[in-house]
This record gives sequence, structure tokens and C-alpha cells, in this order.
Amino acid sequence: MALIVHKYGGTSMGSTERIRNVAKRVAKWVRAGHQLVVVPSAMSGETNRLLGLAKELSPEVVTPTIQRELDAIAATGEQVSVGLLSIALQNEGLEAVSYSGWQVPIRTDQSYTKARIQSIDDTKVRADLAAGKVVVITGFQGVDDDGNVTTLGRGGSDTSAVAIAAAMKADECLIYTDVDGVYTTDPRIVPEARRLHTISFEEMLEMASLGSKVLQIRSVEFAGKYRVPLRVLSSFTPWDIDIHEEAKSGTLITFEEDEKMEQAVVSGIAFNRDEAKVTLLGVPDKPGIAFQILGPVADANIDIDVIIQNVSHDGKTDFSFTVHRNDYARTLDLLKNTVGPAVQAAEVLGDPKICKVSIVGIGMKSHVGIAAKMFRCLSEEAINIQMISTSEIKTSVVIDEKYMELAVRALHKAFDLDQVAA
Ligand code: ADP
Ligand code: ASP
Ligand code: MG
Repeated sequence: MALIVHKYGGTSMGSTERIRNVAKRVAKWVRAGHQLVVVPSAMSGETNRLLGLAKELSPEVVTPTIQRELDAIAATGEQVSVGLLSIALQNEGLEAVSYSGWQVPIRTDQSYTKARIQSIDDTKVRADLAAGKVVVITGFQGVDDDGNVTTLGRGGSDTSAVAIAAAMKADECLIYTDVDGVYTTDPRIVPEARRLHTISFEEMLEMASLGSKVLQIRSVEFAGKYRVPLRVLSSFTPWDIDIHEEAKSGTLITFEEDEKMEQAVVSGIAFNRDEAKVTLLGVPDKPGIAFQILGPVADANIDIDVIIQNVSHDGKTDFSFTVHRNDYARTLDLLKNTVGPAVQAAEVLGDPKICKVSIVGIGMKSHVGIAAKMFRCLSEEAINIQMISTSEIKTSVVIDEKYMELAVRALHKAFDLDQVAA
């Protein structure tokens, strides 16, 4: 008998019919002798609908007090899902009980809309499992020390599931979604993308942090920290397929680098359209300038991603960086009105229509010329590179948003990702 956590995403929970299917699948696992904790997301579109309602009333500045209410609103999506799934499970003849984050409790810090899980008390859940029940816990939400409902950021149900699996030392965490695993890139953009049977934890971490939304990055961080066996698989296979076949399907996140030795240098391509670029022209090139520019941005709680500073001419330089597109207006305002004048910038420019495209692969550690091949491929497509950022296992470029799909497809082909690995 194993303790297994199943997570079902929004599309998988998208209608009562689909919820019935989820219940039948869970029942199959229980009848095979396993203990099950199930973590569903809100029904597809529901979180957007709820946040959209809030935005109709509060379109402009989102203050911390509004963020608190946003979490109270958004958390209701998952609240509905657990109740519905628990009923569906009971209809399958199982004993099931649903819990919200605060009932478990799943404790988080107080960063509304992007809270971090701090601890999970599994006493109640263990007692229920011991009594033969299936426990259904809301994804995406928790509770802070003052009893306020918090949410974990978009896509946060993945993190709830992996964190619960880690806290309970579950034998496996299965992330059921609307694709049958992790692909070389988003199969919705590149139909030739291939499913990976395994992906190393390091690569998955990069892919998630560079924009592949198949797993929320914090879920991958948890899996790495606590060594949670993690698999991404389809919820759209017939619920009654052989359980052993299902248990081996999808993509396994591995922790052993050696397993990847025989595989491609580049494993996947990630992209992110959620960034925007800002530039300060003609700032003095002297010690402390980066801090003078980026310090106030960090103080305003704005995350910075790619940064470039040009070679100086006549003691002046240009300085560019990217931020999340949601922070674009705020950043530009800060630079134009405060930072720019303070550092005597000649001009402040902004461009929200950029994207970041990245190639990821552990093999890049030991191969040279991979970045050059990437740049050649983009130049053959006449795509201008605005910024470059590299680490041991990835190279990212910032380009005009309108070339994103072209770039991803061209790179996918250039690195033979559509070919089955030898
Ligand atoms: P869920 O609602 O189940 O959490 P998400 O929409 O959050 O599902 O994540 C699954 C989606 O991630 C897929 O439908 C796919 O479009 C997208 N995706 C992005 N990159 C990849 C990738 N490399 N492999 C698989 N899916 C990806
Ligand atoms: N329902 C939340 C969202 O849409 C959490 C999730 O789906 O993982 O972001
Ligand atoms: Mg998701």
C-alpha cells in the first residue's frame, strides 16, 4: 500500500462530467489498495472569472488591502472544486472528506497573491486516511498566522500538491493535466514537440522558471528540496486504463544527472511573454550606478530579470532590464519620475512588447557552441536579439514579441528536438 497524492488541474476539473471521471480514476487507485490525497484546482476559467470580477471594481492600483481581498475571492474557486469532487467520490462508493487550506491547516506567509507555504499540519489528514477516507484538499490556498486566506500565485495548485506530498512523505505525487507529460516545448505552439519520458529536476526547474507553465516553479523547488517523486501525466486517458500502465505514463522528474548522459544537449525550449523592457539612456558610467538604478526598483518590490549595461562612451552608458509585464507601468513611472532624474539619465524608454525565449539542457554544461548555434538560427530568421542571458544549463534571449512563435519553432527544429533521441 502506498500513499499517493493526485493533483488535477482546471481543465481536468472543467465540468461535472470531468469531475466524475476524476472520481472514477481516484476510485481505481483506492481499490488497488492505495491511500489517496487529492488536490484539485478550480474549474477551468474560474480563477480568471473571479479575478476579472474584482478587476471590474478595482481596475487601477492594487494595494495590499485589495490583495487580501483578491485572495479571499480567488480561493473560492478551489473551495467549490473540493466539495464537488468529494461528492463525486462518495457517489463512487468511497468515503471522502474535503478540506480548505485553513482547515488542514496549510500555513503560509502573508504575501497575498503569492504566498509561500511555511508548514503543513497533517494530523487530521493522516487520521482520515487511517480511517479509510480519501482526503480532498484545495490547491492554491493556505492561511496566514492571523487566519487570513492566502493564495500561492497562479498555477499554485501544483505547489500545494507537491508540498503536501513532501510533508506527508508520500510515495509519489502525480500531476494530472491536459497534456500527457512535459514536452520539448509547449505542444500548443509547436505541434512537432515531443514528450520527454524523463526530465532532470534541474532542467525542469529552468523550464518552469523560464515560462513553461506545465508546472509552477515552486512545486519543482519543493520536489527538489524534499526529493518528492514527481510525475506529470494526462487526465484525459480513459479512467479505466490499466493502473500499472498509467503509473508509468507521462514524464518523470528525475534527480539523477547520469540518466540524461545519452540524451540531447538541449532538452527543451521555454518562452515567456510576461516581461517588459525598460532602458535608461546616457547615465554616468561610474561605481554605484547599477545600485542607484536597481535599488529603488527592488525597494518598490519589483522583480528584475535580465539586465544589460553597455560599454561606455564619453563616460556615459545605457542600462536596460526586464520586469514582469504587470509591473511595467509602475517601473516606467518610477524611472521617469524618480530614478532617471536622480542619475541624470538622458532619456527613459520602455517596451512592453518583448518576450524571452530560452534553450535549456544539462548537456550545455559540457558542450561549447550551443549559444552560437542558437544565435545563428535566429539570425537566419532575421530575428534581432535585444538582450542575452546565460547560465550553465540555459541561454535566454529577449526578442520582439511578434517573433516569439517563429523563434520557438525555428529553434526547436535547429536543435532537432522533433527527432527521437538516439
Ligand atoms: P493545469 O490546469 O492542469 O494546471 P496548465 O495549463 O497549468 O494545466 O499547464 C498545462 C499546459 O502547459 C499545457 O496545456 C501546455 O499548453 C502548457 N505547456 C507549456 N510548456 C509545456 C511543456 N514544455 N510541456 C507540456 N506542456 C507545456
Ligand atoms: N486555480 C489557480 C489558477 O488558475 C491555481 C491553479 O490552477 O493551479 O492559477
Ligand atoms: Mg497549472
